[in-house]
This record gives sequence, C-alpha cells and structure tokens, in this order.
Amino acid sequence: MGKSIQRIQLIFGAIYIVITVIFAVVTSSMFINSSRKTMEKNASDLIAADSHQIELNVDSYLDTVETVCSLLFSDENYYAYYDTNPDLTDYERIVAKDAITARIVDLGMMENFCDFGVVYSNDKNAGWISQTTESMFPNGGTYAYFSSLITDNRREEGWATGVMGNNDRIYFVKRLNPNAVAVLSFYTNEFDRVFTVPDELSQMTVRMLDGNGVIIYSTDESEVSNCLPEDISSMINDQTGISAMDDNYLVTSNNLNNGWRVVTSIPTSYLMKDQIALRTTVIMIVVVISVAIILVQLLILSRFNKSVTDVVQKLEGDASTDLMTGLLNKTSFRRQSEADLKSTNGIQSKVFFIMDLDNFKQINDQLGHKVGDEVIINMGRLLSEVFSEEFVKVGRIGGDEFAVYCSFIDKSEERAEEWAKYKSDRVYIAFEKMFKDKIEQFNLSVSMGVLIEGGDDSKYEDLYKRTDAALYESKRNGKGKPTYV
Ligand code: GH3
Ligand code: MG
Repeated sequence: MGKSIQRIQLIFGAIYIVITVIFAVVTSSMFINSSRKTMEKNASDLIAADSHQIELNVDSYLDTVETVCSLLFSDENYYAYYDTNPDLTDYERIVAKDAITARIVDLGMMENFCDFGVVYSNDKNAGWISQTTESMFPNGGTYAYFSSLITDNRREEGWATGVMGNNDRIYFVKRLNPNAVAVLSFYTNEFDRVFTVPDELSQMTVRMLDGNGVIIYSTDESEVSNCLPEDISSMINDQTGISAMDDNYLVTSNNLNNGWRVVTSIPTSYLMKDQIALRTTVIMIVVVISVAIILVQLLILSRFNKSVTDVVQKLEGDASTDLMTGLLNKTSFRRQSEADLKSTNGIQSKVFFIMDLDNFKQINDQLGHKVGDEVIINMGRLLSEVFSEEFVKVGRIGGDEFAVYCSFIDKSEERAEEWAKYKSDRVYIAFEKMFKDKIEQFNLSVSMGVLIEGGDDSKYEDLYKRTDAALYESKRNGKGKPTYV
C-alpha cells in the first residue's frame, strides 16, 4: 500500500510539474510576446515620428530656398532685365547687373548659398554664380543646361542633384523671364543640421533620395550617389509613410514635397536589445518562481500523502483487527499464519492452539451480553499477555473461540512442545485468577486443542483441522483442559 501511495504521489508530482512548467512557459511567452509587440510599436512610432520630423525639416528647408528665390520677383530689376537686349549699352548693362547683385546681397542670404544669381540666355550672369559652377561649363551651354533642369512646368522650377557629376551641391532653378533663370545652390552637407537622430536611435541610418532613387544625402557617407541597398528597398515598395520590420531592419519611407524621399533604417537587433534583456530576466524570474511553487506544492503533496498513508494504514489495521479484543480477526489470522508458513525457510517446528470458552453462553443468558463481552475482552487481554512475543500470531476466530499460531526456526519439535505446555499452563493459571467468580458461578473454563509438529511442509488448512479436532476432543472429555496432538 505504501508503494502505491508513493506511486500516486509521484504521478501527482509529475502532473503538477508538467502543468506548472506549461503554465510558466505559456504565461511568460505571452508576456514576452506582448512586450515585444509593445516595444516594436514604441520603436516604430518613435522612428516614424523622427523620420516624419526630418521630412518636415527638409521640406521647410527646401521651401525656404524656393521662397528666397521667389523674392527675386519682388523687384523689377530681377525679371525685367534682358541681358540680350541689343538696345542696351555696355554701361547700362553693368549698372543693371550691379543693381541685381546689390539687391541679392541686400536679401542677406548670400552666406547661405554657394550660388545665388541669374543666368541669361547668352550664358552671361548676374548676382553670384560661383567659380565652381562656371567652371563646369568651359565650353558654354550654362543657360541651356539650367533651363533643362526645370521639371515643374507649371511653376517653371526644378531641383537637381549631381549637376555635371557634382554631388557636393544641390541646385534649385526657377525661370525669371523667357530670357533668364534664377540659380540657387547650397552644400549637400547643410542637411547635417536637418537629419538629426535621437540618442536612443543612434544606430539609425537616415538618407534622402532624389526623384531617380539616387541617395543624395546619408548619415552613412559611403551610400551617397548609390541606390538603396536591395534588402532595404525591397521593404518599401514605393509606398509612402511606411514603417516595416523584418528580421534585419525596421525601415521607414516618407515622400518630400518635391518628389524626393527620406528613408531610414535601423537594425532590428539594436531595437530589440532591451527586449532580449527583458526576456532573459522574465525567463529567470519565471524559472525561480516555478521551482519555488513546485517545491512548495511537492511539500504539501507529500504531507497530504503522508496523512492519506496514515489513514489507509489505520483502515488496514481496522480491517485486519477484531474490534472487540484488538487481536487479529479470523481472516487476517489465517492470512498471516499462512504467510508465516510459506515465507519462513528452515522452519523446524510449529505450534497451533485453538481455545474455546466452556459454558460461556450462560453468562450471556444470565448477566447479559455486556458482561459476556467483558469476558471475551479479558480473555483477549490474557492471551496477549501470555503470548506477547512478536513472532506469535494471536487471533479471535469465533464468538468465544481464539487461536494462536507460531513457527520456530530455532526449536526442535521437543522444545516446541515444552514451550507449548509452558504457555498452556500460563493460560490456565492466569485464567483461574482472572475469572475466579465466573468459574465458581458458571463453571466457566477454557478448552484447548494444541498441535505441535516438526518440519516445514504443512498446509494451514490441515493444521487447523487437526487442532480443531483436538479441541473437540477436550470438549468431549469434560472440558477445561488441553488436548495435545
Ligand atoms: P461450549 O461450552 O460447548 O463451548 O458452549 P458455550 O456456552 O461456550 O457456547 P458456544 O461456544 O457453543 O457458543 C458461543 C456463544 O458465544 C454463542 C454466542 O451467543 C456467544 N457469542 C458469540 N459472540 C459473542 C459476542 O461477541 N459477545 C457475547 N457477549 N457473546 C457472544
Ligand atoms: Mg464455547
């Protein structure tokens, strides 16, 4: 029984551990998953906000350039002057151009631009057209080239990068009149001030692409003049305002007003580093809590099972005990005696007693069952005292009938007989003392059949029958004494 309790305990324990582990794995992975989603969302919101801010900054920067250029229209000198007008004298030309230059300087914007001037259809210019720009056209064609940069026909203006292979500058052109275009340019690295990245996104690459998909500006300088890397461009699909994430990058793309784009990318592993740290912490906490819960539960379970074991053992004891005397009952006396007969090797001898009270019924009849019960209880106590050795089985096998069985591995048949006689004498002596008045009043006595046998090959049934026959013999011969066989 103890073993089956242990097995149940083990099964319960295993089931409990499995349930706890499954519960821990499911809850922690749900938590990790949801925190991953939150982190992803926070990161992508932050990046989307940042790249949107960059888009606004760039738009506003480009707007400023366009606005400054449009200021040229505020003075007739800028747009009404025709350098090609054959009616003008050289002096008039110089005066007009100086006036234009002076007004551009007056705008106070010169220091912001590399070029800020007007190019005429005869390739002459006014204002400030830099040496660098002029030197790009050693064979003329300046006006034709800048005119060709006008891509927005409605507003007659256009943006250009990589002019004559020069990526250092960004150009804006706007038609002033059929004979002249305004040309502005600034250094590409002016965008360093615009493309700012918060500290927590320090690993983010921000780049600006022109209408042809060429990278004009990038915080990773090695990318400038190239197209987007394939693994990043494949995530964009020409959508605007997107924010997409795969195992390698989180990418955003925003379109600018002039048809250019701002594209950012940041390594996923960098974004998720906090998530990885969180996951490790959560897993450690869950493991510690799970182990603690498992230990506590196993402790409770073992306590519970111990009390179950105690109850079962008590029930077992009750089932095998004669409740009135505390001796073995008929079934367990037989079972334990049989087990004794089978299990002990090298039995030299065995002794079997069967005892029955004589004239017992009269006590019941005259003094009542309660007094009869007391006699039976006292007889049980008497036998327990006389046969107190642990290896001796003592049982109540009927109403007023008792049995004693004992096998010896160290006593010959003769020694066993001596032991049996000694014990039966002790029973009779104790009986006389204990039931003195009942003996006198009702002639109460006890008859015994006593079997003593050598050897180790007997069957319980056979021993029982022969001992019972001896008891019958005692009854027949006047009761109150033993018959040995
Ligand atoms: P004999 O001398 O031939 O043995 O006769 P006896 O009067 O002792 O009666 P017998 O052994 O034939 O029967 C035993 C009686 O014991 C029968 C029954 O009424 C009574 N008895 C059986 N169990 C109990 C019990 O638990 N309590 C009491 N008070 N009496 C019992
Ligand atoms: Mg009797």
